[in-house]
Amino acid sequence: MRTKIVAGNWKMNKTYQETKALVKELKHAVKEIELDNTRVVIAPTFVNLQKASKMTKNSVIEVAAQNMHQAASGAYTGEISAQMLKSIYVDTVILGHSERREYFGETDELLAEKVNAALDNDLEIIFCFGEVLEDRKQGNHFKVVESQIKHALFHLDSAAWSKIILAYEPVWAIGTGETATPEQAQEMHAFIRELVAGRYMSDVAEEVSILYGGSVKPSNAQEIFSKNDVDGGLIGGAALKVEDFSAIIAAI
Ligand code: PEP
Repeated sequence: MRTKIVAGNWKMNKTYQETKALVKELKHAVKEIELDNTRVVIAPTFVNLQKASKMTKNSVIEVAAQNMHQAASGAYTGEISAQMLKSIYVDTVILGHSERREYFGETDELLAEKVNAALDNDLEIIFCFGEVLEDRKQGNHFKVVESQIKHALFHLDSAAWSKIILAYEPVWAIGTGETATPEQAQEMHAFIRELVAGRYMSDVAEEVSILYGGSVKPSNAQEIFSKNDVDGGLIGGAALKVEDFSAIIAAI
């Protein structure tokens, strides 16, 4: 059975003090939820990762980084390596978020390097991709998603896929309040699973969790998560409010 995952991307939000308060509240809230084959992941900013990681040590909540550099170490001012993440017991990293692609110029080629560096350090990857509105309007969304996945991930061997979680995030639905319909999400997720099955063996495709991201909120989570190929969500804005995030977890 595929693992279900609800992951919260906190982006550049929450100070150290606010992070402590939010993690504390969240720990209480998740205790009340029956987690059936479901993982709960939060991704605070780099400076708050270690605190969040320590605070969640004995809880079901896992901690992920929002990004990392592709090099092992060196003269890369302001950057963080995979090994540094591992050294504070962070085992998962989000790569390829559309904001990294748009504001920091991350390309599929660069992301392939980051993917390799993460895997070399035994990090699990939540790999994000998705089309912009113009692509969808022109009917190019399948082509765009196919190209993003192929260029960043298809050089991997099948064994590496046990460390990959896919996150389909149509850019037009991120932080806009506009959500893909459950049917649009299912259509794309089924396409992605077939794409993976075409390149690897079908068990790789069957086992990879594919998350949906883009304005998921308590009011739409259940319908989206009910779709066959949707294995959970990557949540932005709604992950910053315990009430909303726990309602989304419960919806799965
Ligand atoms: C995201 O940034 O990954 C995201 C899905 O954001 P939001 O839920 O706010 O649309």
